[in-house]
Parts: sequence; C-alpha cells; structure tokens
Amino acid sequence: MDNENKGILIYAEITRDGELASVVLELANTAQDLAQKLGGVEVNALVISSEFTQHSIFQNNGFDKVYVVKDEKLKYYNTEYYSKITIDVINETKPQIVLIGATTQGRDLAPRVSSTLNTGLTADCTHLDINEKGMLAATRPTFGGNLMATILCKNMPQMATVRPKVLKKAENPIVKNTEFIEMKPQINGIDPKTEIIEFIKNIQTTGKRIDEAEVIIAGGKGLKSPEGFKLLEELANALGGAVGASRAAVDAGWVDHSIQIGQTGKTVMPKLYIACAISGAVQHTVGMNSSDKIIAINKDPKAPIFQVADLGIVGDVFEIVPELIKQLKG
Ligand SMILES: Cc1cc2nc3c(=O)[nH]c(=O)nc-3n(C[C@H](O)[C@H](O)[C@H](O)COP(=O)(O)OP(=O)(O)OC[C@H]3O[C@@H](n4cnc5c(N)ncnc54)[C@H](O)[C@@H]3O)c2cc1C
Repeated sequence: MDNENKGILIYAEITRDGELASVVLELANTAQDLAQKLGGVEVNALVISSEFTQHSIFQNNGFDKVYVVKDEKLKYYNTEYYSKITIDVINETKPQIVLIGATTQGRDLAPRVSSTLNTGLTADCTHLDINEKGMLAATRPTFGGNLMATILCKNMPQMATVRPKVLKKAENPIVKNTEFIEMKPQINGIDPKTEIIEFIKNIQTTGKRIDEAEVIIAGGKGLKSPEGFKLLEELANALGGAVGASRAAVDAGWVDHSIQIGQTGKTVMPKLYIACAISGAVQHTVGMNSSDKIIAINKDPKAPIFQVADLGIVGDVFEIVPELIKQLKG
C-alpha cells in the first residue's frame, strides 16, 4: 500500500440552493473518530462552487483544511468539471480516505472519480470504521439487505459514499483553526458533453416532507387500504409530522413512492418515528433505525419491528391510532 497518502478528504457538496449539504457535517463528525484511530490525521474538505462564503461552518465542524475551487462555470454541478477537479485535488493532496455523500450528486461523482483513480469505492455505506491494520472498514447492506458486508479497499485512496441521515452530526461544535486554500485545477480544456436545460425539483405532492420532518408516522401493509393512510395523516397533523410508508404499501399503490422509507426509498432520522402496522423487515429498518425514538404499533407481538422500537404497542392499529388522535385533540 502507498504510504504517501495521508488524511481524510470529504467532498463538501454545495446544493443547488447554495447550501452545504447536511451529509457533509454527518461525514465530518464520523471522520473525526476515524482520524483519531489513524493517529490524528487531518480531516479536510473540498468545496467546488462559483463562490464561497461559508467559512465558519467548516471552522466549527473540525476541518483542518478546506480546498476551495471557485469559478463561474462551477455554479451548478456538472459531471465533467467536478470530477476533473476532484481527481486533480486528490492527486495533489493525496488523502488516504475520500468520503462523499450518497446524494444524487455524490452518486454521479464518486464512481467516475474512483474509476479514473483506479481505486475501489464502497457505495451506500451505513457504517465506517478503521480496522486493526489502519484500513477503512466500510459497511453496507448486501444481498437485498439481508447481510451487512464490511469491505476493505486495497488501493489508495480508499473511497466510500454514505447516505444522508445515516451518520449523526456532532452535537457540539468542534472548533478548529481551519486553513482555507484556494486551488486552481485546469478546467479550460473541458468541453462538457451535457448541459442542464431545466431543473425540476422532486416535490412531494402532499403533506410535509419526510426528509425534513421531526415526527414521522409511517404505515405498512397492515393498514389494508389508502383509507388507512388517511388515519395516519390525521395523527401526523395532530403531531405536526409527516406520513411515511413501507415499500409494501407503496407497491400496493396506496401512497406515492416519494414517501417510501428504507433501502430503496429514503433514509430518515426524525426525533420520533411511529411505525404503524409495519413488520420491520431489514430493508425497511435500515432507512429509519437512526431515529431518536421509535414507537411501533403491531398486532403481532413477534413482529421484528419491536426489536428496533424503544416502545412497542401490541394491538390493532385501527383501535390505537384513533385513540391517540382523540387523546391528542382532547
Ligand atoms: C431489494 C429489496 C429492497 C427493499 N426495499 C424496501 C424499502 O426501501 N422499504 C421497505 O419498507 N421495504 C423494502 N423492501 C421490502 C421488505 O422486504 C418488506 O417486504 C416490506 O418492508 C414489508 O412491508 P410491511 O411491513 O408494510 O408489510 P408486511 O410485511 O406485510 O407487514 C404488515 C404488518 O402489519 C401488521 N398488521 C396487520 N394488520 C394490523 C393491524 N390491524 N394492526 C396492527 N398491525 C397490523 C402485521 O402483523 C405485519 O407485521 C425491499 C425488499 C427487497 C428485496
């Protein structure tokens, strides 16, 4: 293994609204632990944008250095520009680990960077650690979510993407005397093969967004029909929350795919998650088990959802939910 490589580089994604993607701070917090286990290596960031003003957020989240690449052409994400820049910065700064959020942008960028650098990429990780040999041990679900595989990368840099809301942000600021370094990789010769003509936001048509809600009331196949979800909407309104669903409920056509939670849906981390008539298959729990408090309502006392729940109610959802609504409104 090439010992020249040192430190952790986090791709600091800037969203279309010009904000730092929240997954960056989740990665930054975990990277602090990884850096400690590696004997106190640096945690650095790469920002690619047309402008850069967010210095304090990096200073308060434990970054040692921030490499900033600014250019008018970089206002919005573009595969060709962004991957060339990321590759150049990696080649110049030689990190041992590169972490990228498994967002739409990250999922486009990471494989292109890793294949050009001829290194491995473990995508969609749910846990990151350092093994006894000082290598990145990246864990992700495999075989349809029935197994968790921990994967090592033999080449440098070791690369991984992690879904938003799987790792936790730091609870308190990690203040560092961050150094901001402007970099100027050559992008003039690039002739992008694609151009964005219009940007259409993926808007959830009804209710509050599950990826922003602090309370989620999620329903499963046991709700039996779309009407069952009306009941959940009433409970969500009473608690100021959003309605989510299992894949079985989405596949039945009762609710829209935009509110599916789990491996092939969204990953959520609300303060309160109430699972109503959801069995708790691993493909579902992988998308919600980082929630602060989980309450499960299921008529089957052996339902696996109770294994991840802080509080379990064994009973009929059609009796318990109306009673909860009554108590809350009362
Ligand atoms: C590759 C792959 C990806 C997948 N991705 C996802 C994903 O992203 N998200 C996801 O959710 N699933 C996903 N699945 C499907 C997953 O394996 C389960 O099939 C699904 O989560 C089951 O949904 P459910 O719990 O709503 O339904 P069921 O398994 O049918 O469970 C219904 C539950 O409701 C309970 N119940 C019934 N009636 C009542 C009542 N009146 N009151 C109280 N409880 C009641 C039952 O006891 C039961 O536990 C995926 C599967 C595969 C293979």
